[in-house]
Amino acid sequence: MTKRIAILGGGIAGLSAAWALEKARRAGQDVEFALYEAAGRLGGVIASETIDGCVIEGGPDSFLTEKPAAAQLCRELGIGDQLLGSNDSERKTYILVGKRLIPLPDGLMFMVPTKLVPTALTPLFSWSTKLRMAREFLFPPAPATVDESVADMTRRHFGQETVDRLVSPLLSGVYGGNASQLSVRAVLPRMVDMERKHRSLSRAMLAARKSAPPSSGSAVRPSLFTTLRGGMSQMVDAIAAQLPAGSVHLSTEVHAIGRDERPRQPARWTVESGFGQDSFDAVILALPAWGSASLLRLLDHPLAEALSGVPYSSSITVTLGYDRAQLAGLPPGFGFLVPAIEKRAMLACTFVHAKFAGRVPEDKGLLRCFLGGSGNEALLGESDAYLTTTVLKELEAILGVNARPLFVCMHRSRQAMAQYGVGHLERIQLVRDRVAALPGLALAGNAYQGIGVPDCIRTGHEAAASVLRALALEAAPAAR
Ligand SMILES: Cc1cc2nc3c(=O)[nH]c(=O)nc-3n(C[C@H](O)[C@H](O)[C@H](O)COP(=O)(O)OP(=O)(O)OC[C@H]3O[C@@H](n4cnc5c(N)ncnc54)[C@H](O)[C@@H]3O)c2cc1C
Repeated sequence: MTKRIAILGGGIAGLSAAWALEKARRAGQDVEFALYEAAGRLGGVIASETIDGCVIEGGPDSFLTEKPAAAQLCRELGIGDQLLGSNDSERKTYILVGKRLIPLPDGLMFMVPTKLVPTALTPLFSWSTKLRMAREFLFPPAPATVDESVADMTRRHFGQETVDRLVSPLLSGVYGGNASQLSVRAVLPRMVDMERKHRSLSRAMLAARKSAPPSSGSAVRPSLFTTLRGGMSQMVDAIAAQLPAGSVHLSTEVHAIGRDERPRQPARWTVESGFGQDSFDAVILALPAWGSASLLRLLDHPLAEALSGVPYSSSITVTLGYDRAQLAGLPPGFGFLVPAIEKRAMLACTFVHAKFAGRVPEDKGLLRCFLGGSGNEALLGESDAYLTTTVLKELEAILGVNARPLFVCMHRSRQAMAQYGVGHLERIQLVRDRVAALPGLALAGNAYQGIGVPDCIRTGHEAAASVLRALALEAAPAAR
């Protein structure tokens, strides 16, 4: 009999699970699926739109090229020709210190400076921090025996100024997170391995640099980031176009799931939405962990408790379009990060027209500003007018841009970015063990093993493969 699978959540994780199941169906597996999405559109936090010829991203604007799952998925979907690398010859990121934008020193690896001259010359750090960096090379601290925050590990090796001016702004820019809370084992596992092996992080980074394959003059290095010419939503649309008619239920929030144990037979799963109840052989929860927790509370209380302990942060992107001439005074580069100690509302700003070629017309310029992040939830409740005024004032103070933008585009992502706090790995192991005891259940999304788009795609594929296995069916090859 045809096996029926429910997927809850139509973000990139749920869509990737749907695509993996669709591939299995096309390969001859006797399976069908229904995807439930609470919102009136697919994509979750991925939200692209075009205004005046400018591609605007409300959520992710790209993915790390070194994680291949996203590009591989695009190729499978027939949109490989839409992949676009970042303009790395322009790549320079600044840190705001007082009223100055100071470039990140050349040679940073995993947030650790590895080149002597740029590190010695940068005005980003005081002389006492530079001396501390040199001392770390010779007299490193003892490795930690338990998980600790990224801030704690950095402070042990390089002091507080490195936390304030480098690590905190980088992590709040990438994770919307707080370096004092994020787990170094979950967020930067390679740093932990390096500390174990070399004790000194500077020594470890130098060794890694030396053992990296030499870049031959003729070889073209892949760009650091990859996006899609027409916006990240192209990926969402391309998956949606491949799914069977009637398999996607938009504006359908699931408010309960149940599991019916049956003697000598696999359990059945029920899914309840405002439109009624349906019955399935397996369920994939591709929701934020807090959403999965509330659906699982009556089924497995310890599992729900572990999931609800994954904190989330919210963010706001404010994208402003200008005539390019009005941005002539911008420094060259991709944008800047704002350390929390600068007490600004803005966490970061991307010069979109510089980061990717061809997504903004030649005569236009686009600034994308991030606000919110861990501990700044209250900003989400502010009006568009207040947020726009705040951003305009800060852009004037930081960049000297005082022109009126041609348009302003605002997106709020509430409780969307999982924060891997200290102890995250143990928490996720507990989640895995509990899920393994509920055959036919799988979890996907950004709460578990990486928050980036490629990580979410991978979890979607793995969730699909896991439920197919539980139903004694075979998965088609996954995107790698
Ligand atoms: C502003 C921002 C910028 C980012 N930038 C980048 C970047 O540049 N590069 C990168 O790699 N990553 C980036 N990320 C992270 C990445 O985009 C996300 O981690 C990823 O897209 C999350 O996908 P998801 O499917 O797990 O969750 P979501 O996209 O949150 O999808 C979950 C879906 O579940 C639905 N849902 C919730 N409850 C229910 C229910 N009860 N019933 C039915 N449906 C429900 C929601 O409506 C939502 O559509 C960014 C994230 C944000 C917020």
